[in-house]
Amino acid sequence: MTTADIAGIVTAIESVLPKGPGTVSLHEPVFAGNEWRYLKECLDTGWVSSAGKFVERFEEMLRDVTGAAHAIAVVNGTAALQVSLELAGVRRGDEVIVPALTFVATANAVVYCGAVPHFADSDEHTLGLNAAKLDGYLHSVARVEGGTCINWRSGAPIRAVVPMHVFGHPVEIEPLLEVCDRWRLTVIEDAAESLGSLYRGRHTGTFGRLAALSFNGNKIATTGGGGAILTASAELGARARHLTTTARRSHRWSFVHDQVGYNYRLPNLNAALGCAQLEQLNGFVAAKRALTARYADALGAVPGVKLFLEQPWARSNYWLNALLLDQPDTAARDRLLEEANARGLEVRPAWTLMHRLAPFAACPRSDLSVAEDLEARIVNLPSSAVLKRV
Ligand SMILES: *Cc1c(COP(=O)(O)O)cnc(C)c1O
Repeated sequence: MTTADIAGIVTAIESVLPKGPGTVSLHEPVFAGNEWRYLKECLDTGWVSSAGKFVERFEEMLRDVTGAAHAIAVVNGTAALQVSLELAGVRRGDEVIVPALTFVATANAVVYCGAVPHFADSDEHTLGLNAAKLDGYLHSVARVEGGTCINWRSGAPIRAVVPMHVFGHPVEIEPLLEVCDRWRLTVIEDAAESLGSLYRGRHTGTFGRLAALSFNGNKIATTGGGGAILTASAELGARARHLTTTARRSHRWSFVHDQVGYNYRLPNLNAALGCAQLEQLNGFVAAKRALTARYADALGAVPGVKLFLEQPWARSNYWLNALLLDQPDTAARDRLLEEANARGLEVRPAWTLMHRLAPFAACPRSDLSVAEDLEARIVNLPSSAVLKRV
């Protein structure tokens, strides 16, 4: 790619964004609703911690938005993943399949359970786990024995699979559920990035046994820091609530804890922010989809790159827009990053693939050629619901 090609791409990106000095950030939150009012209510009433009506209201709103039967608000998305894995029966020494192309929290949560992340490859049409490739790989390393999937190389049970909906784009979940069912693997969705994204009309995070959402400051809706566990199972929902509130038996005054629980409940202050944000979620999704349409117009005829767009069966929240170089070329990608950032556009590469990170270098993995190809092609574009220069 020539210097002129790169300059042309950045000019096309720039044409969509606000003009003037300052930087356009990759993603920033928008507080245009009832945030101040709800936060003030917490302070005025003294309900700031992990009890209070906003926590319950936030959970009810999450059930409404996603259609999940149970939603448990927790301190962050990583904690939601950890507890979901634990409730799915992931134990010390087990293996859990996660995509190599993900944010580090997906793999970290597996290690918090004492288990080993086992990396699988992506599908270039969804950026998420590729079901057919996973199936082929399992045929080469695993067998089902007494209802449990065993990695015959390591001897360890492979207990679960954690598909992640990358940048808000739904994984092609149905074939993946079928593969996981055949291999006796529990599916836990990492839906941290996909609030507002649908697979065939149904909300992401409602297909797995459990799912994790995140409300970190950079996600489509934020509570400052926060997360949630979704599940259709009343039993798992109750256990999730119990485990994230120090496993305290309900009683008027006595402190009896029947297992080692966590202090992972979302504080009321954060939930208040979350309620105000969820009231605006449809608007955020609409704004992001409109921004994607503008990027698609501006970049459609630009040689060498393609904007990543949703599949016909998907409705993406377009949390982060991704531009893909036609060819994997890390040097060209880095020159594009340099040029865009020099012009005040916070353009970023995808995450370093998990198997390249020091803590996970020795973890088992399948062929990761598609994830490696994508890593050398993806740049994320400024994607805030309201774009401005700061
Ligand atoms: C943000 C994110 C998480 C973790 O959420 P936190 O709330 O930051 O702990 C997990 N997985 C993915 C894919 C994410 O993007």
